[in-house]
Amino acid sequence: MRGLVYEGPRQVTVKDVPDARIERPTDVLVRITTTNICGSDLHMYEGRTDLEPGRVLGHENLGVVAEIGGGVERIQVGDRVCLPFNIGCGFCRNCEDGMTSYCLTAHPDPDMAGAAFGFAGMGPYHGGQAEYLRVPFGDFNCLRLPEDAADKEDDYVMLADIFPTGWHATRLAELRPGESCVVYGAGPVGLMAGYSALLQGASQVFVVDRHRDRLRLAEQMGAIAVDDSDGDPARQVLDLTDGRGADRGCECVGYQAHDPQGAEHPEMTMNSLVNSVRSTGGIGAVGIFLPSDPGSPDRLAQDGKLAFEMGSFWLQGQRIGTGQAPVKAYNRRLRDLIHHGRAAPSFIVSHDLPLQRAADAYERFDNREDGWTKVVLKPEM
Ligand code: NAD
Ligand code: ZN
Repeated sequence: MRGLVYEGPRQVTVKDVPDARIERPTDVLVRITTTNICGSDLHMYEGRTDLEPGRVLGHENLGVVAEIGGGVERIQVGDRVCLPFNIGCGFCRNCEDGMTSYCLTAHPDPDMAGAAFGFAGMGPYHGGQAEYLRVPFGDFNCLRLPEDAADKEDDYVMLADIFPTGWHATRLAELRPGESCVVYGAGPVGLMAGYSALLQGASQVFVVDRHRDRLRLAEQMGAIAVDDSDGDPARQVLDLTDGRGADRGCECVGYQAHDPQGAEHPEMTMNSLVNSVRSTGGIGAVGIFLPSDPGSPDRLAQDGKLAFEMGSFWLQGQRIGTGQAPVKAYNRRLRDLIHHGRAAPSFIVSHDLPLQRAADAYERFDNREDGWTKVVLKPEM
C-alpha cells in the first residue's frame, strides 16, 4: 500500500510500505478516505523528536472498515468510522476514568501511559496517512458515523483530534456559559478551542496570533482577533476587558511559541496567559510541551523547564489543566453536534489534496504559508 513515511528532519515521502493488516483478534482494518496533517505532525517533521525513519505518520483518520478480527463484536465491515488519535484499551484504570489519552495498556512499555497512531514516544503504531490503518482495540476505538458521513467527511474527521482537543482546552479551563475566554494560537487547535468556547456560550472569545489569514478565520466564527504584532497581547486583552482579564484561557501553541519576529520563547504563551486571565480564573494548556531529555543531545526540542511566572500565577489564585486530550470522552457528543447541524468544524479546512501531494503540503503547512490552515488528505482522490 502507499503511505507517507517519515525519513528524517523535513523529509517525508509517499512510497510503498508494508500493508497494514489485522494482527490481533481485537483489531479492525480501516480503508482510509480522509486523513489530516496536524500541527503535532510538525514536531516529528521538523526533527524535534526521536521518531525512527520509516514510520507512517497520521493520527487524524477517518475511513471505512475493510476487515475485522475474530474478536470484534460491535464494528462491522462497511461501517464508516472516525478514529481518535489516542489508542485506548477501554479497560485500564485511566481508560475507565475516561482518560484514554493516558491508557496504561496500549503502550508496550509498561512505564509509559498513552499511545497514538504515527506519533513519537507513543508506541510503535503506524499512522493513517496511507491507504489502510490497523486499529487496535477496534470495538473501543472506532467511532461509528451516521449516514450523512460520506458527504461530511471534512467535518467528521475533526473528531479524531482537534475538535475534541479544542473542547478539552475549554473544559480544563472550566469555562462556564457567559464567561469570556482568551485563546493563544489561531492554528487549527486554537481555532477549535475558540469555536468550542462559542458553542458553550462564552460571552466573548479572544484569539491571539499574528497570521492574518488565521485571525480572519477567528473573526469569521465570531471571535475577537488579537494581533500580537501590534503589541503585548496580555495588555490588549486587559484593555478589551476593562482591565479585568478574560475569565478563562487556553494555551494552543506549545513549546514552539515564538515572538512575532520569529525567535522561539517556549515560556511566552504561558506567561501571557497568566497576565491576561483574571484572578481565580482557569487555564487549559493543550499545546505540547516535551520533557527535558538529556539522553538525546541532538534533539532540537527546547528544555522542558520553562521560566514560568509561578509567582503571578500563585498570587492570582489561578488554576491550570494540561495534557493530551482524551478524545473518546467527547467525540460522540461532538459527532452529534455535527450530525444535527449545530457544528461544522470543516470551516478551517484550506486544502483537500490527494495523498500523493502530502510532502509538498507538509512543507507549506510547516512554513505557515498564507492560506495553509488545515490540510486534509484523500488517499482515494
Ligand atoms: P499550528 O502550529 O498550526 O498552530 C500554532 C499557532 O500558534 C500558529 O498559528 C502560530 O502562529 C501561533 N503562535 C506561535 N507563537 C505564538 C505566540 N507567542 N502567541 C500566539 N500565537 C502564537 O498547530 P496546531 O495544529 O494548531 O496545534 C497547536 C498545538 O497543539 C501544537 O503544540 C500541537 O502539537 C498541540 N496539540 C495538542 C493536542 C493535545 O491533545 N493536547 C492535540 C493536538 C495538537
Ligand atoms: Zn492532531
